[in-house]
Amino acid sequence: MRSTALTARRRLRELDELTAETVDVLVVGGGVTGTGAALDAAARGLSVALVEARDLAWGTSRWSSKLAHGGLRYLATGDIGVARESARERHVLMTRTAPHLVRALPQVLPLTPGTGRRRGLTVGIGFGLGDLLRRDAGTSSLVLPGPRLARPGEVARLVPAVARERLRGAWVAHDGQLVDDARLVVALARTAAGRGAKILTRVRAVDLRADGATLEDTLTRTTLTVRARVMVNATGVWAGTIDPSVRLRPSRGTHVVVPAARLGSPAGALMVPVPGSGSRYVFALPAQLGRVVIGLTDEEAPGPVPDVPEATQAEIDFLLATVSGVLSRPLLPDDVVGTFAGLRPLVDTTGSGDGPSADVSRKHLVEVSPSTGAVNVLGGKLTTYRTMAEDAVDLAVRHAGLTAGPCWTTALPLVGASSAAGAPSPAGLGGTGSPDVSASLVARYGAEAAEVLAAAVLPGSASAVGQGITGAAHLDITRAEIEWAVTHEGALDADDVLDRRTRIGLVPADRAAVRDVVEELVADALARL
Ligand SMILES: Cc1cc2nc3c(=O)[nH]c(=O)nc-3n(C[C@H](O)[C@H](O)[C@H](O)COP(=O)(O)OP(=O)(O)OC[C@H]3O[C@@H](n4cnc5c(N)ncnc54)[C@H](O)[C@@H]3O)c2cc1C
Repeated sequence: MRSTALTARRRLRELDELTAETVDVLVVGGGVTGTGAALDAAARGLSVALVEARDLAWGTSRWSSKLAHGGLRYLATGDIGVARESARERHVLMTRTAPHLVRALPQVLPLTPGTGRRRGLTVGIGFGLGDLLRRDAGTSSLVLPGPRLARPGEVARLVPAVARERLRGAWVAHDGQLVDDARLVVALARTAAGRGAKILTRVRAVDLRADGATLEDTLTRTTLTVRARVMVNATGVWAGTIDPSVRLRPSRGTHVVVPAARLGSPAGALMVPVPGSGSRYVFALPAQLGRVVIGLTDEEAPGPVPDVPEATQAEIDFLLATVSGVLSRPLLPDDVVGTFAGLRPLVDTTGSGDGPSADVSRKHLVEVSPSTGAVNVLGGKLTTYRTMAEDAVDLAVRHAGLTAGPCWTTALPLVGASSAAGAPSPAGLGGTGSPDVSASLVARYGAEAAEVLAAAVLPGSASAVGQGITGAAHLDITRAEIEWAVTHEGALDADDVLDRRTRIGLVPADRAAVRDVVEELVADALARL
């Protein structure tokens, strides 16, 4: 096993080595799909390099709803195969590969006159079917409790801001929730690095050829030529920029962020039917750092793919209005402290940019590109990244005639996961085993939580990054975590830390409040590498 620590120094060394060798697999794109593929290939004993133009989880993988779905929504569209796969992969995440990053989240659908008896019945049947998927996947009710009807008092305990007037009760069902999507990507990348994969951020693939690629180190603006036996293009909504045969029609999904206190610091997610739609819901999801995230929209996003998609005012208004329909006090525009949006890759099957499109955001597409010869892996879900990676590497091995072992990632825990005694519970909120290690640190780092604190050498490591800063006292990220991001998680600057290793940046006011402190800590940590 190699070290799982990603650093600026390691990046430089491995970039240098890369120009002198031929790797078995070159993965392009450092989102959940690319890092998952790099881990899958490295675990089979192949030599692997992954290049990411910006930073780990720069793209769609940090803009998700952060749910490990059990597949219920796919049942509604009759996609039983996708639904079962989703439930199986949720099981793998919650019990073997990343139990430290995924917890059981109660989802609460209030039953009010506005819900309608028919919708209440449909939801009950849907939750029952979702529970069959859970059983089919072998997930115990200790990990994910089954669905049930709750009385108004319990609804008020789970989501205190729900209007009590004429509330008959609620359906409550559990799904998996990631502490953060970008943390899953970083854990995948580090686990792959531990198996020898080179993980190289700030390296853009400019051109893919049959025998390798031309890359640009975006920090030095130098061009490198690398040789690879096969390439995997996992660039998500940007896939068409390096492969002219891929045509995408992205669709935008937007979330707003509000302070958790505004909804009474809920313990569960609120699920609100979209008026006039038989099957759509808006969710208000409790999140780390004292926030609630409300989503999701689905809007066509034609034109060039932006670096960072932006929410529109109409989407924000729609989300606030929908959730407010069941609250005792409506949410107002002033309650919004942040917004974020991501793009789903929809494959354009018409070639003309209009007409019907095939939604591969649910299923995934794995094929050898007719124009680059690389294996394109597109669409899917965060939840199903592992099967996408398996399918992509299977095809890559066949296509290039490589000798490789079978896929075994269902049994490969990611860094921070542990089945040892004293490890975090499946909910990620179990006992920490040490008075210094907070439950939130365990929820973010699992079995590595104590090491994050112990490895820190800069002063005041256990104190919160926002300590003493007006308006930042609610941020429970320690100074040690900022240092760890640089010494172990491949963060190269303060933006990597603010926007991806931690999610402080989801709220611009939080970001501005601690930016100077984070910049200073990052500079000190980089200087010590
Ligand atoms: C709004 C929204 C909410 C979602 N919510 C959920 C959810 O709750 N649960 C769930 O399971 N799924 C969810 N999904 C789906 C999930 O987020 C995506 O399927 C997944 O993140 C896609 O990951 P990816 O690695 O394929 O793409 P990306 O994360 O976009 O990664 C592609 C990477 O490629 C890099 N790149 C691009 N061009 C180049 C180049 N030339 N050279 C090198 N690197 C390059 C980019 O910088 C980027 O980092 C959601 C999707 C959306 C849009």
